Amino acid sequence: MDFTELSLSKTKIYKKKLLNNIQNFKKILSKQTTFMAVIKANAYGHGAVELAQFMEEKQAADYFGLAQLGEALELRKAGIETPLLIFNAVRLSEIDSAIENNISLTVFSAELASAIVNRAESLKKQALVHLKIDSGMGRIGVSQFSEAYKIYQILNSPTVTIEGIYTHFADATHRDPKNFTDEQFKVFKRILDQFEEKDIHFNLVHACNTAATINFPEYHLDMVRVGIGLYGFNPTSLEDQKLNLQPIQNVDARITHLKDFPAGHSIGYGRNFFSSEPMKVATIGMGYADGVPKALSNKACFRYQGKNLPIVGDICMDQIMIDSSKEVSLKVGDYLSYFGDPADGYSSAEELAQLINSSSYELLCALGRRVDRIYE
Ligand SMILES: *Cc1c(COP(=O)(O)O)cnc(C)c1O
Repeated sequence: MDFTELSLSKTKIYKKKLLNNIQNFKKILSKQTTFMAVIKANAYGHGAVELAQFMEEKQAADYFGLAQLGEALELRKAGIETPLLIFNAVRLSEIDSAIENNISLTVFSAELASAIVNRAESLKKQALVHLKIDSGMGRIGVSQFSEAYKIYQILNSPTVTIEGIYTHFADATHRDPKNFTDEQFKVFKRILDQFEEKDIHFNLVHACNTAATINFPEYHLDMVRVGIGLYGFNPTSLEDQKLNLQPIQNVDARITHLKDFPAGHSIGYGRNFFSSEPMKVATIGMGYADGVPKALSNKACFRYQGKNLPIVGDICMDQIMIDSSKEVSLKVGDYLSYFGDPADGYSSAEELAQLINSSSYELLCALGRRVDRIYE
């Protein structure tokens, strides 16, 4: 094919690697532990519909986790039948559509609980909910048993199924002797015990994100909620030997123009880079609108066949300039790599993120919709 027909930027997403990552997690779970695949934010940029269809077909996940109702509806519209839980707040006007589509809601206020009960009664259809406890994360959720119990009493109606109760850990990436995760679990456990004293039991008690699933097997409980791990990243400080996770995508951008500059030539907006010697510069068809943070300007490299080629000048919205002097064989139409699986010769997203005080999560989610997703 004529190179001018090729994607300006693309990411190859390897479903087999996703399946491997899931299987590796399942090796560290007990048979009874329910596996939730967290595919919020378009599956951290990888494409939620495509990956959900694949996981459903392979029966790889028991549950999918989303942040917002719109994300869950997108999956239902695509025919996904797996149970779905929304972690974030919903608009009161969205409750009907959650109930009609069998989407579980997270409840953390009496107001929301009453609205759900009212809507379920008038629709004559079961609403599905999970109670959210804030045991120390400091975001949504109630922190006191009295508040949780009040919400429980409102929800405790024939038209509402209280499927579960959960909390979220703030700092499970390491496991020091005096870690905050243990403290959070104590807060959560005390609330669970107080429910038990009233003879109230929950089917799905859950707490662990990826980091806690790896670092705190004693807190797996009934279900784990694995996000970043699905996509091949281990956020813990533990050396990733046992788990053997692989990043599931490789991101590349195409060279659109190549040219030689003399020494002393400025490149890009603001003229923040000057060539110190004659230089061969490639322009590629990807920029900050595609998710390459502008902060990486004059800091990070793209790669060609494992060789690092520095970004020169400020990253533009749609284009980036790369010092390609070291690669005489490069041609217009060749691809330079952004991040991906180190085993395939790519930089890791984590390594790039560290240059700018960001995270693998942020770089993955930032990948824009103009980057063509190609599934294998
Ligand atoms: C995003 C999220 C997760 C997944 O977190 P990872 O660190 O990506 O595994 C789990 N639970 C909740 C409530 C979340 O918001």
